[in-house]
Amino acid sequence: MRNSLKHLIAGPCSAETREQVLETAKEISQIDALTYFRAGIWKPRTAPGSFEGVGEDGLAWLKEAKETYGVKTTTEVATPEHVEACLKQGVDALWIGARTTVNPFYVQQIADSLKGVNIPVFIKNPISPDVGLWMGAIERFKLSGITDVSVIHRGFFSYAKGVFRNPPMWEIPIKLKTEFPDLQIICDPSHITGNSDLIEEVSKFAMQLGMDGLMIETHPTPKEAWSDAKQQVTPDRLKEIMESILLSKTNSDISHEEVEKMRKEVNLVDSETLEDIAKRMLIVKEIAKFKKENSATVFQHARWKFVLEESKKKAKELGLNEEFVEDLMNLIHKESLNIHHTIYNS
Ligand code: PEP
Ligand code: MN
Repeated sequence: MRNSLKHLIAGPCSAETREQVLETAKEISQIDALTYFRAGIWKPRTAPGSFEGVGEDGLAWLKEAKETYGVKTTTEVATPEHVEACLKQGVDALWIGARTTVNPFYVQQIADSLKGVNIPVFIKNPISPDVGLWMGAIERFKLSGITDVSVIHRGFFSYAKGVFRNPPMWEIPIKLKTEFPDLQIICDPSHITGNSDLIEEVSKFAMQLGMDGLMIETHPTPKEAWSDAKQQVTPDRLKEIMESILLSKTNSDISHEEVEKMRKEVNLVDSETLEDIAKRMLIVKEIAKFKKENSATVFQHARWKFVLEESKKKAKELGLNEEFVEDLMNLIHKESLNIHHTIYNS
């Protein structure tokens, strides 16, 4: 995978005042890697009554930032009216927010409003981890004639509260990259972490994964921000993060005899693991037939509890991550239930 930073999109979550926009733009325009200055003008907020953005007035501030500090600008659009206003004020690129990507009607309307206009479009992942929906949005813009379509990975909503505001589920952007190898994927550690202390770590990991860029929310006084106060960094902190990322640049493709040898071993283990799983499924089939003939219920709670506990014990013994082994066993169990389903209905 490649690992060069092709995009750094930075700026406040929301444009709040003309001074705040200009001050932030001035500071971050000094960062060489900056490709776009961002600021939300219309904010999709969960609850009504919270700050919903300054609206069209903010577009004039973006224009002023561009003219004064030479930064290209980008903002979120959710309706054809937003698109029209942005085009009128010379916004250089548009992004589609996570709450918009989920809705094909909105995405299509925005894509239609861009017919005949070739402006770069960044598509954030839908709130739900649905790679098909994300791909659908990409296609809608491409079909509208937009040639410069990139995506922004901003993590996925999770009901469980953990370290991250929106867990990254890296396997989802990786799947997208597999489907569209030339697609540029930009990571948004701000919305993934929801925590300014974790931005550097997640940014570095995204770069190590071979992502093409970063979108980092930056505010002159993050604590006083009108939206997403916990996750914004100051321009000075952004400069530090970028220096550290550029220093830790990794190589894109490794091909080394030693690594190739180990990869061959991994391939062998993968193949043996699959053979073992196939063996397990054959036994499950026999058990399912037996259970069916004896009119037993498919799911035997005590048995499943035993299997899980034994696997977790074994995981500990083997030095494997218990949570990983639990997930793996759940996946295997899901397939066992599918096999039962087929046999019981045959
Ligand atoms: C944002 O970028 O400020 C934003 C609202 O993002 P998302 O659509 O990822 O929640
Ligand atoms: Mn935000």
